[in-house]
Amino acid sequence: MQNRKIGAHVSASGGLYKAIERANEIGANCVQLFSGSPRVWKRKDLSEFDTTMLFSKQKELSVDPIFTHSMYLINLASEKPELLEKSFNALKYDLEFDSLIKGSGIIVHLGSHLGRGWEAVREQVAQQIISLLEATPKDSTFLIENSAGQNGKLCSKLEEIRWLINRVDELSKEKIDVSSDTFSVELNKSRLGWCFDTCHAYAAGYALGKEPKSLYFKSVLEEITRLKLWDDLKCVHVNDSRDDFGSGRDRHENIGFGNIPTEDFKYFLNYKEVLEIPLLLEVPGLDKNGPDAHNIAILKDYCK
Ligand SMILES: [Zn+2]
Repeated sequence: MQNRKIGAHVSASGGLYKAIERANEIGANCVQLFSGSPRVWKRKDLSEFDTTMLFSKQKELSVDPIFTHSMYLINLASEKPELLEKSFNALKYDLEFDSLIKGSGIIVHLGSHLGRGWEAVREQVAQQIISLLEATPKDSTFLIENSAGQNGKLCSKLEEIRWLINRVDELSKEKIDVSSDTFSVELNKSRLGWCFDTCHAYAAGYALGKEPKSLYFKSVLEEITRLKLWDDLKCVHVNDSRDDFGSGRDRHENIGFGNIPTEDFKYFLNYKEVLEIPLLLEVPGLDKNGPDAHNIAILKDYCK
Protein backbone atom coordinates (compact mmCIF):
# COMPACT_ATOMS: atom_id res chain seq x y z
CA MET A 1 0.00 0.00 0.00
CA GLN A 2 2.81 2.40 0.93
CA ASN A 3 4.09 2.96 -2.58
CA ARG A 4 0.91 2.58 -4.52
CA LYS A 5 -0.12 5.19 -7.03
CA ILE A 6 -3.65 6.21 -6.15
CA GLY A 7 -5.11 9.19 -7.95
CA ALA A 8 -8.05 10.72 -9.68
CA HIS A 9 -9.34 12.76 -12.56
CA VAL A 10 -9.44 16.41 -11.52
CA SER A 11 -10.15 19.73 -13.16
CA ALA A 12 -7.25 21.69 -14.62
CA SER A 13 -9.17 24.94 -14.82
CA GLY A 14 -7.15 27.95 -13.80
CA GLY A 15 -3.85 26.33 -14.83
CA LEU A 16 -2.31 22.88 -15.03
CA TYR A 17 -0.63 23.29 -11.64
CA LYS A 18 -4.11 23.69 -10.13
CA ALA A 19 -4.86 20.08 -11.05
CA ILE A 20 -1.85 19.01 -9.00
CA GLU A 21 -3.07 21.06 -6.03
CA ARG A 22 -6.58 19.61 -6.35
CA ALA A 23 -5.21 16.07 -6.49
CA ASN A 24 -3.07 16.69 -3.43
CA GLU A 25 -6.01 18.17 -1.51
CA ILE A 26 -8.02 14.97 -1.82
CA GLY A 27 -5.09 12.71 -0.97
CA ALA A 28 -4.13 11.61 -4.48
CA ASN A 29 -0.52 11.04 -5.57
CA CYS A 30 -1.13 10.71 -9.31
CA VAL A 31 -3.56 12.46 -11.59
CA GLN A 32 -5.58 12.55 -14.79
CA LEU A 33 -6.83 15.69 -16.55
CA PHE A 34 -8.22 16.98 -19.84
CA SER A 35 -6.22 19.19 -22.20
CA GLY A 36 -9.38 21.31 -22.61
CA SER A 37 -13.13 20.77 -22.52
CA PRO A 38 -13.93 17.14 -23.42
CA ARG A 39 -17.09 18.21 -25.25
CA VAL A 40 -15.69 20.80 -27.66
CA TRP A 41 -13.04 20.49 -30.37
CA LYS A 42 -11.43 23.83 -29.65
CA ARG A 43 -8.05 23.78 -27.94
CA LYS A 44 -5.68 26.57 -26.98
CA ASP A 45 -2.20 26.87 -28.38
CA LEU A 46 0.19 24.49 -26.65
CA SER A 47 2.60 27.38 -26.03
CA GLU A 48 0.01 28.91 -23.67
CA PHE A 49 0.43 26.18 -21.05
CA ASP A 50 2.69 26.97 -18.11
CA THR A 51 4.69 23.79 -17.56
CA THR A 52 7.25 25.42 -15.26
CA MET A 53 4.58 25.92 -12.61
CA LEU A 54 3.22 22.44 -13.28
CA PHE A 55 6.56 20.68 -12.84
CA SER A 56 7.50 22.59 -9.69
CA LYS A 57 4.09 21.89 -8.15
CA GLN A 58 4.41 18.20 -9.05
CA LYS A 59 7.80 18.07 -7.38
CA GLU A 60 6.65 19.98 -4.31
CA LEU A 61 3.56 17.80 -3.75
CA SER A 62 4.90 14.51 -5.16
CA VAL A 63 2.07 14.02 -7.62
CA ASP A 64 3.23 11.80 -10.47
CA PRO A 65 2.52 10.30 -13.04
CA ILE A 66 0.10 12.47 -14.94
CA PHE A 67 -2.31 11.14 -17.57
CA THR A 68 -4.46 13.00 -20.10
CA HIS A 69 -7.96 11.84 -20.97
CA SER A 70 -8.91 12.54 -24.59
CA MET A 71 -12.17 14.27 -25.50
CA TYR A 72 -15.48 12.43 -25.93
CA LEU A 73 -16.16 13.54 -29.51
CA ILE A 74 -13.56 11.32 -31.12
CA ASN A 75 -14.42 8.48 -33.48
CA LEU A 76 -11.49 6.80 -35.23
CA ALA A 77 -13.97 4.35 -36.81
CA SER A 78 -16.04 7.05 -38.50
CA GLU A 79 -16.99 6.81 -42.17
CA LYS A 80 -17.21 10.59 -42.34
CA PRO A 81 -13.91 12.12 -43.52
CA GLU A 82 -14.51 15.35 -41.65
CA LEU A 83 -15.12 13.68 -38.28
CA LEU A 84 -12.17 11.37 -38.84
CA GLU A 85 -9.88 14.30 -39.57
CA LYS A 86 -11.09 16.21 -36.52
CA SER A 87 -10.56 13.11 -34.38
CA PHE A 88 -7.05 12.63 -35.74
CA ASN A 89 -6.13 16.25 -35.11
CA ALA A 90 -7.56 16.21 -31.58
CA LEU A 91 -5.53 13.12 -30.71
CA LYS A 92 -2.41 14.55 -32.33
CA TYR A 93 -2.83 17.61 -30.12
CA ASP A 94 -3.25 15.46 -27.02
CA LEU A 95 -0.15 13.40 -27.83
CA GLU A 96 1.83 16.62 -28.24
CA PHE A 97 0.33 17.83 -24.97
CA ASP A 98 1.37 14.56 -23.29
CA SER A 99 4.93 15.12 -24.46
CA LEU A 100 4.87 18.77 -23.33
CA ILE A 101 3.74 17.93 -19.78
CA LYS A 102 6.02 14.85 -19.57
CA GLY A 103 2.90 12.75 -19.12
CA SER A 104 2.49 9.00 -19.05
CA GLY A 105 -0.04 8.82 -21.84
CA ILE A 106 -3.35 9.89 -23.31
CA ILE A 107 -6.31 7.66 -22.55
CA VAL A 108 -8.61 7.29 -25.53
CA HIS A 109 -12.17 6.17 -26.14
CA LEU A 110 -11.71 5.12 -29.76
CA GLY A 111 -15.33 5.64 -30.78
CA SER A 112 -18.06 3.48 -32.25
CA HIS A 113 -18.58 1.30 -35.31
CA LEU A 114 -22.20 2.54 -35.32
CA GLY A 115 -23.63 -0.82 -36.26
CA ARG A 116 -21.06 -1.78 -38.91
CA GLY A 117 -19.30 -4.21 -36.59
CA TRP A 118 -15.76 -4.47 -35.27
CA GLU A 119 -14.34 -6.37 -38.26
CA ALA A 120 -15.49 -3.65 -40.64
CA VAL A 121 -13.62 -0.86 -38.86
CA ARG A 122 -10.62 -2.34 -37.10
CA GLU A 123 -8.11 -1.91 -39.94
CA GLN A 124 -9.02 1.76 -40.29
CA VAL A 125 -8.57 2.27 -36.55
CA ALA A 126 -5.14 0.58 -36.60
CA GLN A 127 -4.07 2.73 -39.57
CA GLN A 128 -5.19 5.87 -37.75
CA ILE A 129 -3.23 4.92 -34.64
CA ILE A 130 -0.01 4.19 -36.50
CA SER A 131 -0.32 7.45 -38.44
CA LEU A 132 -0.81 9.30 -35.15
CA LEU A 133 2.27 7.70 -33.62
CA GLU A 134 4.31 8.62 -36.69
CA ALA A 135 3.15 12.22 -36.53
CA THR A 136 3.82 12.84 -32.84
CA PRO A 137 6.74 13.03 -30.37
CA LYS A 138 8.48 9.79 -29.44
CA ASP A 139 7.90 10.38 -25.76
CA SER A 140 4.12 10.47 -26.10
CA THR A 141 1.97 7.43 -25.37
CA PHE A 142 -1.40 6.31 -26.73
CA LEU A 143 -3.54 4.24 -24.36
CA ILE A 144 -6.72 2.51 -25.54
CA GLU A 145 -9.50 2.34 -22.94
CA ASN A 146 -11.91 -0.60 -22.80
CA SER A 147 -15.55 0.44 -23.22
CA ALA A 148 -18.88 -0.66 -21.75
CA GLY A 149 -20.00 -1.68 -25.22
CA GLN A 150 -23.33 0.03 -25.76
CA ASN A 151 -24.08 1.66 -29.13
CA GLY A 152 -21.24 -0.09 -30.93
CA LYS A 153 -18.49 1.36 -28.74
CA LEU A 154 -15.16 -0.21 -29.65
CA CYS A 155 -13.02 -2.34 -27.38
CA SER A 156 -15.58 -3.56 -24.87
CA LYS A 157 -13.96 -6.93 -25.58
CA LEU A 158 -10.35 -7.13 -24.50
CA GLU A 159 -9.57 -9.24 -27.60
CA GLU A 160 -10.12 -6.08 -29.64
CA ILE A 161 -7.44 -4.24 -27.69
CA ARG A 162 -5.09 -7.21 -28.18
CA TRP A 163 -5.82 -7.18 -31.92
CA LEU A 164 -5.11 -3.45 -32.26
CA ILE A 165 -1.83 -3.59 -30.35
CA ASN A 166 -0.69 -6.53 -32.47
CA ARG A 167 -1.79 -4.92 -35.72
CA VAL A 168 -0.10 -1.59 -34.99
CA ASP A 169 3.07 -3.48 -34.08
CA GLU A 170 2.91 -5.35 -37.41
CA LEU A 171 2.34 -2.12 -39.31
CA SER A 172 5.31 -0.46 -37.63
CA LYS A 173 7.56 -3.37 -38.62
CA GLU A 174 6.33 -3.21 -42.21
CA LYS A 175 7.18 0.46 -42.31
CA ILE A 176 10.67 -0.19 -41.02
CA ASP A 177 11.14 -2.93 -43.65
CA VAL A 178 10.16 -0.81 -46.61
CA SER A 179 11.90 2.41 -45.68
CA SER A 180 14.57 1.70 -43.15
CA ASP A 181 16.57 4.79 -44.11
CA THR A 182 13.84 7.33 -43.94
CA PHE A 183 11.71 5.87 -41.20
CA SER A 184 12.59 8.18 -38.38
CA VAL A 185 10.05 7.26 -35.77
CA GLU A 186 10.76 4.26 -33.61
CA LEU A 187 7.35 2.86 -33.00
CA ASN A 188 8.32 0.62 -30.20
CA LYS A 189 5.60 -1.14 -28.33
CA SER A 190 5.79 1.12 -25.33
CA ARG A 191 4.10 3.96 -27.21
CA LEU A 192 0.86 2.00 -27.47
CA GLY A 193 -0.82 0.42 -24.46
CA TRP A 194 -4.16 0.36 -22.74
CA CYS A 195 -6.14 1.50 -19.73
CA PHE A 196 -8.56 -0.81 -17.93
CA ASP A 197 -11.80 0.71 -16.59
CA THR A 198 -13.49 -1.40 -13.90
CA CYS A 199 -16.99 0.06 -14.49
CA HIS A 200 -16.79 -0.48 -18.24
CA ALA A 201 -15.49 -4.02 -17.80
CA TYR A 202 -18.29 -4.90 -15.37
CA ALA A 203 -20.89 -3.44 -17.73
CA ALA A 204 -19.31 -5.40 -20.60
CA GLY A 205 -19.66 -8.66 -18.67
CA TYR A 206 -16.23 -9.16 -17.10
CA ALA A 207 -16.22 -10.07 -13.42
CA LEU A 208 -13.41 -8.55 -11.34
CA GLY A 209 -13.35 -11.21 -8.68
CA LYS A 210 -12.00 -14.70 -8.32
CA GLU A 211 -15.17 -16.54 -9.24
CA PRO A 212 -16.53 -16.49 -12.75
CA LYS A 213 -19.79 -14.57 -12.60
CA SER A 214 -21.43 -16.30 -15.53
CA LEU A 215 -20.85 -19.33 -17.68
CA TYR A 216 -19.71 -17.12 -20.51
CA PHE A 217 -17.18 -14.81 -18.92
CA LYS A 218 -14.12 -15.70 -16.95
CA SER A 219 -12.61 -13.50 -14.33
CA VAL A 220 -11.11 -10.54 -16.11
CA LEU A 221 -7.75 -11.27 -14.46
CA GLU A 222 -7.61 -14.62 -16.22
CA GLU A 223 -8.65 -13.01 -19.44
CA ILE A 224 -5.88 -10.38 -19.26
CA THR A 225 -3.39 -13.18 -18.60
CA ARG A 226 -4.75 -15.31 -21.47
CA LEU A 227 -4.45 -12.37 -23.87
CA LYS A 228 -0.95 -11.48 -22.57
CA LEU A 229 -2.08 -7.92 -21.91
CA TRP A 230 -0.38 -7.26 -18.58
CA ASP A 231 2.75 -5.65 -20.02
CA ASP A 232 0.68 -3.24 -22.07
CA LEU A 233 -1.58 -2.20 -19.18
CA LYS A 234 -0.46 1.27 -18.07
CA CYS A 235 -3.25 2.43 -15.75
CA VAL A 236 -6.56 1.42 -14.21
CA HIS A 237 -9.69 3.56 -13.95
CA VAL A 238 -11.31 2.52 -10.69
CA ASN A 239 -15.04 3.22 -10.87
CA ASP A 240 -18.09 1.52 -9.46
CA SER A 241 -21.04 0.86 -11.78
CA ARG A 242 -24.58 2.25 -11.48
CA ASP A 243 -25.78 -0.45 -13.86
CA ASP A 244 -25.94 -4.20 -13.76
CA PHE A 245 -23.36 -6.75 -14.77
CA GLY A 246 -23.34 -7.08 -18.56
CA SER A 247 -25.67 -4.09 -19.04
CA GLY A 248 -23.39 -2.43 -21.58
CA ARG A 249 -24.10 0.94 -19.96
CA ASP A 250 -21.39 3.39 -18.97
CA ARG A 251 -22.50 5.15 -15.80
CA HIS A 252 -19.89 5.52 -13.08
CA GLU A 253 -20.74 5.40 -9.38
CA ASN A 254 -18.83 6.22 -6.20
CA ILE A 255 -16.79 3.31 -4.88
CA GLY A 256 -18.95 1.10 -2.69
CA PHE A 257 -22.21 2.71 -3.85
CA GLY A 258 -22.61 0.76 -7.09
CA ASN A 259 -23.11 -2.83 -8.15
CA ILE A 260 -19.52 -4.11 -8.19
CA PRO A 261 -19.10 -6.35 -5.15
CA THR A 262 -16.59 -4.98 -2.62
CA GLU A 263 -14.88 -8.36 -2.42
CA ASP A 264 -14.35 -8.34 -6.18
CA PHE A 265 -12.84 -4.85 -6.05
CA LYS A 266 -10.47 -5.92 -3.29
CA TYR A 267 -9.47 -9.09 -5.09
CA PHE A 268 -8.77 -7.21 -8.30
CA LEU A 269 -6.91 -4.28 -6.71
CA ASN A 270 -4.63 -6.53 -4.66
CA TYR A 271 -3.86 -8.96 -7.46
CA LYS A 272 -0.09 -9.04 -7.84
CA GLU A 273 -0.03 -7.79 -11.44
CA VAL A 274 -2.15 -4.76 -10.51
CA LEU A 275 -0.04 -3.59 -7.56
CA GLU A 276 2.39 -1.53 -9.65
CA ILE A 277 -0.19 0.08 -11.90
CA PRO A 278 -1.44 3.65 -11.26
CA LEU A 279 -5.10 3.76 -10.16
CA LEU A 280 -7.32 6.69 -11.16
CA LEU A 281 -10.83 7.47 -9.92
CA GLU A 282 -13.43 8.91 -12.30
CA VAL A 283 -16.37 8.85 -9.91
CA PRO A 284 -19.14 11.43 -9.46
CA GLY A 285 -18.09 12.24 -5.87
CA LEU A 286 -20.40 12.56 -2.87
CA ASP A 287 -21.15 16.19 -3.75
CA LYS A 288 -21.23 15.47 -7.49
CA ASN A 289 -18.11 17.55 -8.00
CA GLY A 290 -15.96 14.66 -9.15
CA PRO A 291 -13.50 12.44 -7.28
CA ASP A 292 -13.12 13.46 -3.63
CA ALA A 293 -11.23 12.63 -0.46
CA HIS A 294 -13.94 10.15 0.54
CA ASN A 295 -13.50 8.00 -2.56
CA ILE A 296 -9.70 8.19 -2.33
CA ALA A 297 -9.89 7.02 1.30
CA ILE A 298 -12.10 4.06 0.36
CA LEU A 299 -9.79 3.11 -2.49
CA LYS A 300 -6.78 3.24 -0.15
CA ASP A 301 -8.68 1.09 2.30
CA TYR A 302 -9.44 -1.48 -0.42
CA CYS A 303 -5.75 -1.56 -1.34
CA LYS A 304 -4.59 -2.71 2.07
ZN1 LIG B 1 -12.58 5.48 -17.69
